[in-house]
Amino acid sequence: MSIWEENVRKVVPYTPGEQPDFPDMIKLNTNENPYPPSPLVEKALKEMDADALRLYPAPAADALVEGLAAVYHVKKEQVFVGVGSDDVLAMAFLTFFNSDKPILFPNITYSFYDVWADLFRIPYEQIPLNEEFAIVPEDYMKENGGIIFPNPNAPTGVEMPFEEVERIIAHNPESVVIIDEAYVDFGAASVLPLIEKYENLLVVQTTSKSRSMAGMRIGFAFGSEKMIHYLNDAKYSFNSYTMNRPSLILGSAAIQDEAYFRETTAKIVTVREWTKKELKRLGFSFPDSKTNFIFATHEHVPAKELFEALKKQHIFVRYFNKPGIDNYLRITIGTEEQMKKLIAFLEQYL
Ligand SMILES: *Cc1c(COP(=O)(O)O)cnc(C)c1O
Repeated sequence: MSIWEENVRKVVPYTPGEQPDFPDMIKLNTNENPYPPSPLVEKALKEMDADALRLYPAPAADALVEGLAAVYHVKKEQVFVGVGSDDVLAMAFLTFFNSDKPILFPNITYSFYDVWADLFRIPYEQIPLNEEFAIVPEDYMKENGGIIFPNPNAPTGVEMPFEEVERIIAHNPESVVIIDEAYVDFGAASVLPLIEKYENLLVVQTTSKSRSMAGMRIGFAFGSEKMIHYLNDAKYSFNSYTMNRPSLILGSAAIQDEAYFRETTAKIVTVREWTKKELKRLGFSFPDSKTNFIFATHEHVPAKELFEALKKQHIFVRYFNKPGIDNYLRITIGTEEQMKKLIAFLEQYL
């Protein structure tokens, strides 16, 4: 290795799910929403003015921040926005996880956490889930440099009840606790109200899943005014203009449409519950999911084999070749029609 290479900040990167592109495909591998964004987004897109792109966007992303504050009933000083919740989370790792003590997160969870910890040289400890794939709150009641986990967890889909999340936060007043609520809109309870009670809590959400805006890259976080201030200081020291003009306009439109949001998330929940029954009938088992995906294993047929067989039909699901979860498939909930095709194929194959 050359001398200059020895000083490179090396990291093993996160591997995102495949983005195949076939006209006939059923894409159930990256937890995207099968419905289009709100009609308000399409309208705003058509009315967008290309000439405005000459000018830098508002560095504080005011329109979007104020819109989020209004919709979620918080002060604008309690809102932070970023280029997807990945950007928000990365900035939060950089800002808040700066101790010699390890940060804590589950061993089976969003696989970006250990990548950011490695990139920023943050010590960490990955805590095993129990046999039911649940996070055990007591495991997070020891010395630490910070805590992060998704609720519901990914890729398991398991929700931790509100009271248990609060127990973890209440027990850790000396470190920052980040709850990644990427999937909370599909039937789980958000701990957002707790930001008024705990100034060290950050609640992170996204427009990627429940608002069908994965391609737009808009994430957001809620926390105490103090925490949001610290986050913004780090952001302005890195890249002042994270949110571009189209993001500010289209993101604001997406969060306004409460009726459409309720309708599409409810449809996904209904189709999820139908899919659970069908998968059970075909010999699958899975932890109960409160998300827009199901993490399933079959009683006889290996997950890898099913993954390959589905892929041949252009039905894409996610398979993780990792110890402990390598006999599971993470299946995103698509439209009713897509799930019927998935079940029909599985029935015939099995
Ligand atoms: C999808 C996902 C994210 C990131 O989503 P963005 O598209 O970057 O907003 C963050 N955390 C978890 C657990 C996710 O599944």
